[in-house]
Amino acid sequence: MQVLKFGGTSVANAENIRKVSAIIQEVIKKDRAIIVVSAFGGVTDLLLQSGELASHMDEGYKEKLRIIEKRHLETVKGLLPVVQQSSVLSWVKKSCNEIEDICNGIFLLGELSARTRDRIVSYGELMSSQIISAYMNSAGLVNTWKDARELIVTDSNFGGAAVDFIATNKKINQYFSGNNNLLYIVPGFVASDGNGTTTTLGRGGSDYTGAILAAGVYADVLEIWTDVSGMMTADPRLVSNVRQIPHISYQEAMELSHFGAKVIYPPTIQPVMTKKIPVWIKNTFAPGDYGTMIESDAKENGNIIRGISSINKIVLLSLEGSGMVGIPGFSKRLFEALASEKINVIIITQSSSEHSICVGIEENASVKAKEVVDKAFAYEIETGRVDPLIVEKNLAIVALVGDHMKSHTGVSGKMFGSLGRNGVNIRAIAQGSSERNISAVIASEDVKKAINVLHEEFFETTYKQINLFIAGVGNVGSRLLAQLEQQKDYLQHHLRLQVRVIAMANSRKMVFNDDGIDLKTWKQSLENGDQMNLQRFLGIIHSKNLRNSVFADVTANNTLAECYDQLLQKAISVVACNKVACSSSYDYYKKLKDLSREYNAPFLFETNVGAGLPVIGTLNDLLRSGDKVNRIEAVLSGTLNFVFNNYNGEKSFAEIVRQAQDEGYTEPDPRLDLSGTDVMRKIMILARESGEHLEMDQIENRSFMPASCMEGDVANFYKEMARHEAHFKNIYNGAASANMKLKFVAKYENGKASVGLQHIDSKNDLYHLYGKDNVVLFYTDRYTEQPLVVKGAGAGAEVTASGVFADIVRTASV
Ligand code: ADP
Ligand code: ASP
Ligand code: MG
Repeated sequence: MQVLKFGGTSVANAENIRKVSAIIQEVIKKDRAIIVVSAFGGVTDLLLQSGELASHMDEGYKEKLRIIEKRHLETVKGLLPVVQQSSVLSWVKKSCNEIEDICNGIFLLGELSARTRDRIVSYGELMSSQIISAYMNSAGLVNTWKDARELIVTDSNFGGAAVDFIATNKKINQYFSGNNNLLYIVPGFVASDGNGTTTTLGRGGSDYTGAILAAGVYADVLEIWTDVSGMMTADPRLVSNVRQIPHISYQEAMELSHFGAKVIYPPTIQPVMTKKIPVWIKNTFAPGDYGTMIESDAKENGNIIRGISSINKIVLLSLEGSGMVGIPGFSKRLFEALASEKINVIIITQSSSEHSICVGIEENASVKAKEVVDKAFAYEIETGRVDPLIVEKNLAIVALVGDHMKSHTGVSGKMFGSLGRNGVNIRAIAQGSSERNISAVIASEDVKKAINVLHEEFFETTYKQINLFIAGVGNVGSRLLAQLEQQKDYLQHHLRLQVRVIAMANSRKMVFNDDGIDLKTWKQSLENGDQMNLQRFLGIIHSKNLRNSVFADVTANNTLAECYDQLLQKAISVVACNKVACSSSYDYYKKLKDLSREYNAPFLFETNVGAGLPVIGTLNDLLRSGDKVNRIEAVLSGTLNFVFNNYNGEKSFAEIVRQAQDEGYTEPDPRLDLSGTDVMRKIMILARESGEHLEMDQIENRSFMPASCMEGDVANFYKEMARHEAHFKNIYNGAASANMKLKFVAKYENGKASVGLQHIDSKNDLYHLYGKDNVVLFYTDRYTEQPLVVKGAGAGAEVTASGVFADIVRTASV
């Protein structure tokens, strides 16, 4: 015998039922079969809603019942030839009238008992099974309809009745051994108690009906036909890259379903497991897919973890108090109190101090739980030995499941490490001694992120996803987007990285797309976006709560730089080409560095000094390996270098500065470059990175600019420079006549930093520096005589974008 169960979606309408029928046609070629069916998809909910509305004296229940009746009548009409319809139609009408009668009664009394609720909801499976049976008979699949209430005996715990297996197996045995029919159709979910009153097996209980029957008849297989191709490594509604699990052990399947994998109702496994009946999960809509085989010795698949699941709407109950230490019986009393109200405990943790015991239960039982536990410990609470029960809401459980965890170290390290890096706070942890499951209680709002983080960590050898938020899509930002688009395949194939741009903004507009903004058409998307609002932009980054979130600041904006702390605190990495944050007060710079360390969220700003050149990275590597920086000498302004390399008195100084701005080397405000402020910021950042506590006003700046150039706006700046052409020519001639070059040099030594224009002779390391190049000389304990030199283009949109790009990629390796 084989038992097949078809779920709600599989029998949702006439078209699907035909698919089911085709599957059954095939399977009965092999052996006799019992077919268990659910209510048509959505009908159970509608029935429950009808009862609920009626009990609140809301006439809306009538509309619900009308919808239910219409669905069933239409399905009959869509399935059966007209001549065979009448008896089924009248049976459906009769059933619907009965439901209405019951609801009318509820409406009048304003009261709905659990017993009556079971009665109402049972019609879903009763009607669907009758219709399917009639259709299959009409299609030549001769079958016997058998009421599950005559086979499955339960207690009277309505809504989730417990099966009396002895009585049930006896009935199943009697019935099926006395019958030799080929095909039986049985309604799932429903049963009856010792008095013959209708009960139900709990939501999703048709799976259980299948298992009870399969165990009762010692079936060769139980097939669960549903709308997915088997059990997946995680809930496909939460994770997009889930994988099918072809083989899984009974215990693993039980753990996964217990912790929320809805594809199979948790009690289903027990009856079939004891009889070693394999359970095969198959997809009604893709019968060719292998699905999942649940069996005793499931094949290994090379993964330590078999799957990840989650349950939402959990509350954590904590019983605490100094009076609990060393006194036996507290937990017993806690669990007894909960059991007395039939409150199911999902997770338990107790610290070794025995000072507190903590259990996770479903949220809807929390009020009752608080009541019974406080009552049970009333005396201890009054005498101050135990505190009143603490109830924490809005929590969820995520669980990793796998038989092979026990033979592997480092699983929980990996689990908690990856969650921590993504700012997921863990409220409680449980690992059974079977080591088949590690579960953690986290905030509900973090569930989706947590499941995705864990899935990526344990299953996605394919790639890791970075979720990027970009502020600033001007000169550098647009190059960055072009580079990201161009490197997409390389990142995926060589680094196994996928960078998805979730949001971008400029000063006017912002746009979001959870699936990633198409980088070929980002300009139009941004134009069509919303008006930019920084607080909203940041708010959305927080609320999206995506794993591996990176915020890239490609602006020179002050306000943005003031928000990095908010991001790092949420474990969102920050990549800044914007220098404002690192060159603001030392306290803020330090705060950001500390937050980055505390939340394990990289804060990277390589492009703050020397654009794409590896200056800060090199400095950090020196320090990390134990070297000490004694002196830094550098030419750090691409703009000033360009200006002094090109100025020889032929074109005016102002014109050369204008050219530098037009070619994109200057800061958005060129005065920051010409005044030396930008170089001061850079040498300060290098000094700070070397461990120096330095502020801007401690840096000496020997400016070569006439003061009047810096008074007023940018237009005035150019005007004044033109007026002072003789001054600049003078500076130039002074150097040229001595065969020297002019370089704006930054220095850091003995805790002091300075910037200023210098005459450089041809023997100097700084002499051979062309175009917009930068050079940094590091004199350290290891590089004493000859410095370590980093040299190359130190400005320009393309190289700066590439530096930002490299930082973004670097966040993924943390
Ligand atoms: P049926 O009505 O056939 O009983 P259910 O809706 O009860 O179907 O269960 C199937 C659904 O379970 C799938 O559509 C899927 O969205 C959900 N699901 C949750 N977790 C998992 C998982 N780990 N693997 C497969 N499906 C899952
Ligand atoms: N129809 C019931 C429910 O929706 C039982 C089932 O489909 O398994 O919960
Ligand atoms: Mg189900």
